[in-house]
Amino acid sequence: MLVNMKEILENAEKEGYGIGCINTPNVETLRAVIGAAEELNVPVIIDHAQVHDSLIPIEEIGPKMVEYAKKSTVPVCVHLDHGSDYNFVMRAIRCGFTSIMYDLSESPFEENMEKLKEFTKIAHDLDITVEAELGIMTSTEDDTHGGEVGWTHESIKKTFTDPEQAATFARETGVDALAVCFGTAHGIYAEPPLLDIDRVKAIRKAMPESTRVVMHGGSGVDEDQIQAAISAGCSKINYYSYMAKACSKHINNYLAEREGNAYWHEVQEEAYTFMKEYIKGVLNTFKNGK
Ligand SMILES: [Zn+2]
Repeated sequence: MLVNMKEILENAEKEGYGIGCINTPNVETLRAVIGAAEELNVPVIIDHAQVHDSLIPIEEIGPKMVEYAKKSTVPVCVHLDHGSDYNFVMRAIRCGFTSIMYDLSESPFEENMEKLKEFTKIAHDLDITVEAELGIMTSTEDDTHGGEVGWTHESIKKTFTDPEQAATFARETGVDALAVCFGTAHGIYAEPPLLDIDRVKAIRKAMPESTRVVMHGGSGVDEDQIQAAISAGCSKINYYSYMAKACSKHINNYLAEREGNAYWHEVQEEAYTFMKEYIKGVLNTFKNGK
C-alpha cells in the first residue's frame, strides 16, 4: 500500500530498526526492492533521485513507482531523493510522490530553514512528508550528488552536522526527517568510512521526537556500524551504489559463462533476481537483530 514516511519511520524508531530507502531508476530495481520487502514483510521507501532524471525522467518511472507501491502487500513510501530545485519537487508531487526530500543543504543555514519551513507547511497540508539535509554530504569520484570530492577521515569532519543546529532546524521547520552528516558519503568509498556514532546519539537527543534522523551513503558501510547508527537513533538508511555495482559484476560473470550468448530479457531477469536477494540481505541488516 502507498504511504508517506511518517508512520513507518515512527514505528521503526519505536521498535529499534531501520527502514531502507533505495533508488529505483528502472523497473528491474523497482520490482526487486518491492519483492524483497514483501518476502520479508517489512515496509520500504523507494526513491527517485533528481540526478537520475537523465537516466529516466520522473514522469516515466514515477507513475510506475506509485502503481507498484499501491499494489504492494507491504507499506511503501514513494520518495524524491535530493530534490534541489523547486520545479523538480513540483514534478514529483504531480507524479503522486508521497514524500519529498527538498535538499537546500548548499544554501546558507537561514535560507535552508526559511524555505523548508514554508515548504513543509504546504506539503503537510497535502499529506506529504518532508526530508531536509543539514551539513553538506561529501561524494566520491564516481558519484554525482555534489559536495566535496576526495575527502579524508579528517577533512570530512568539517561537514558534520551540529546537534544544536539540527534541533533548531527541526523545531523551526517541522520536517519529518533530517539527513545529517556523521561520516558517510555518497558513492563508492575509497577507504572504509568511520562513523561518529556519539554524534548520531547527540543529534537524536537534541532534535524533537517527531523528526527522524537519516543516514545517506549507507551502502558500503560495515554492517556493525550501520546497526550501531540505527541503535543510536537513525531510522532511515539510504542505500544504492554498492547494490548497483554488485549487480553489474554479477551480470558480467553471467555473460562470461554464456560467452555473451543471452537474450536481453534473460539478462534483465537475472539482474532482478540477483538484486532481490541482495536487497533481502540489506533489509535484514537494517532489522538490527529484530
Ligand atoms: Zn543522499
